[in-house]
Amino acid sequence: MDIENLLERISAAARAETDRGAVADYIPELARIDPSQFGISVCLANGAQYSAGDAATPFSIQSISKIFSLALALGRLGDSLWHRVGREPSGYAFDSIVQLEYEKGIPRNPFINAGALVVTDAILAGSTPAETLGEMLRFIRTAADDEDIRINERVARSEKATGARNTALANYLLSYGNMHSAIELTLGTYFHQCAIEMTCEQLARSGRFLMNAPGSSLPRLISSARIRRINALMMTCGQYNGSGDFAFRVGLPGKSGVGGGILVIAPNRASIAVWSPGLNSYGNSKLGTEAMEVLAREAGWSVFG
Ligand code: GLU
Repeated sequence: MDIENLLERISAAARAETDRGAVADYIPELARIDPSQFGISVCLANGAQYSAGDAATPFSIQSISKIFSLALALGRLGDSLWHRVGREPSGYAFDSIVQLEYEKGIPRNPFINAGALVVTDAILAGSTPAETLGEMLRFIRTAADDEDIRINERVARSEKATGARNTALANYLLSYGNMHSAIELTLGTYFHQCAIEMTCEQLARSGRFLMNAPGSSLPRLISSARIRRINALMMTCGQYNGSGDFAFRVGLPGKSGVGGGILVIAPNRASIAVWSPGLNSYGNSKLGTEAMEVLAREAGWSVFG
């Protein structure tokens, strides 16, 4: 397979597309992003990296950060984390309150907002928000082998200013005893982790620890058992309530964010980052999802054969 040529074709098709989806507008700083952009980057198990389009432009990773906070929380708490958050797809909007009430304050999974707030609260225990964010950035920088990965303070402030619903979720969790730190601290940490910026090139490198490539020389950040579990959750819950559609079309575990990025893992083979700010009706990057469908098909990477 000529991956360079394939990425160039995918990027050219994305550039020519006129129906690009709609940029998320509920976080004002994200609403200003130019929707004409598209980038893709692929890290293969043999260490090679290939990119096309705007792969060196930083964007807000948003909910993709939930993968890194989950990896840290599992490292810190082990399986006891699963007493506080479930492992089932939700079928409701990512910021739903209804479901949290039905399920008595135990969020369905770590990738919906309520679940991610619990995960962030878990890693905050015994630390300050600055220490927790420092730990998260260290993990990501080590995974990406790149010190130049930072938080965009303007985006974090914009999220805080419009964070009424996340604040409501945190209060709801608190009422069920499932928030242990002061909620302003957990929310502040969460808004900042969502505001981490990366380019497609950095994001693809930061996902290599989830490839579980045999004989890889990469530093092992988490165990193979945890890698399998995080990938399973990405497959079943990683694309909001469009996760079934993504599994059907792409056949690979992935995690999207409202900034238009998607990190996708082809187990044992590749870590892929794609970004285009316009979103489809599920809130996932429209062109990013389409690009992944083509890439997985042409590379033969679907986990379903
Ligand atoms: N910071 C965003 C929120 O909590 C993340 C949304 C997302 O990427 O799903 O609303």
